[in-house]
Amino acid sequence: MPIGRRDALRTLAALSVAGYLPSGKVWSNSSVPPIQDFSGTVMTVAGPIDPGDLGFCLPHEHVLSRFGEAPAEPAEFDEALVEAEVVPYLRYLGELGITAIADCTAQTFGRNAPLLAKLSTESGLHLITNTGFYGAAEDRYVPEEAYQLTAEEIAARWIEEFTNGIGQTGIKPGFVKTAVDNGPISEIDAKLVRAAAITHRETGLSLAVHTGNNAPAAAQQLIILEGEGVHPSAWTWTHAQNVPDPEPLLQAAAAGAWISLDGIKLPYYQAGKLQGSDTFDRHLQLLLALREAGYLEQVLLSHDGSSFPPDLDSRRPMDFLSNAFLPVLRSENFSEEEIDTLTFRNPATYFTIQKRLL
Ligand SMILES: [Zn+2]
Repeated sequence: MPIGRRDALRTLAALSVAGYLPSGKVWSNSSVPPIQDFSGTVMTVAGPIDPGDLGFCLPHEHVLSRFGEAPAEPAEFDEALVEAEVVPYLRYLGELGITAIADCTAQTFGRNAPLLAKLSTESGLHLITNTGFYGAAEDRYVPEEAYQLTAEEIAARWIEEFTNGIGQTGIKPGFVKTAVDNGPISEIDAKLVRAAAITHRETGLSLAVHTGNNAPAAAQQLIILEGEGVHPSAWTWTHAQNVPDPEPLLQAAAAGAWISLDGIKLPYYQAGKLQGSDTFDRHLQLLLALREAGYLEQVLLSHDGSSFPPDLDSRRPMDFLSNAFLPVLRSENFSEEEIDTLTFRNPATYFTIQKRLL
């Protein structure tokens, strides 16, 4: 559905408040920069694609990351080293049948959209980047300015990235990424969630919110979304596997939310050491509970892997799903159609730009 002029004007006003437009300038109708309507497409770093072309998608990974370093935007990387290390890994994932990856690295955590675009071209994989500010981690990565800005003004910055591209790159985000700690969530985290809801309302971008380890953090977000007129199906309970009891997950799914079981890991050897906790069975049990209750079509599966942190020894694999988890699902009598739902159809639906309003 095309965005109405009133919406465009409201956004324009917000941009003006946020300092993106010269103040006092009167914009004639013809010069109103509209939010382009990308409804029905998935926005990759190479531009919009048909959701049917996304293929087997890992919805929560970190192709590039500089966790905890709060670097500049775009984050600096040794590009030659990144290409040498990451392209072969992405091609290996391609050989496993994976065709798309969403990079959940938020700005200040190592987001670099032009480098992602290069990696996408060289590997042949669809890559999706994001807009948003990272809360959680006791809010130590929240940009200082976010405390001064209103939720509307923060949203205006994220909407600006979707409208005109990230910085000068012309590359658009394909979803909103933000993060909150355990509930009751902090005031700034609540503001970020509200900004995410406003961004969804204007753009139709889905929301991936890293959610602390308890159910109140999720429930509180759904209340904020409701206050902004946004349906729970615009929102993902990211890292839902951190809540061991399936009951709150089933309740969120019943409301329409996406449940992201995105930390699939088995212990593995790296740099001569045994790494990674065994989260396999927890993911399986939660998935079985969601399937039993009829919510398979709202589940996203991923690794929260990391293919390029500057310290290469701290890479986290992105192949357990293909090599271990799916075979186990088949042994649990998951049909090929159910596996397609989890790996193809659900990510395609989730990343399709679409306003999901109350
Ligand atoms: Zn992550």
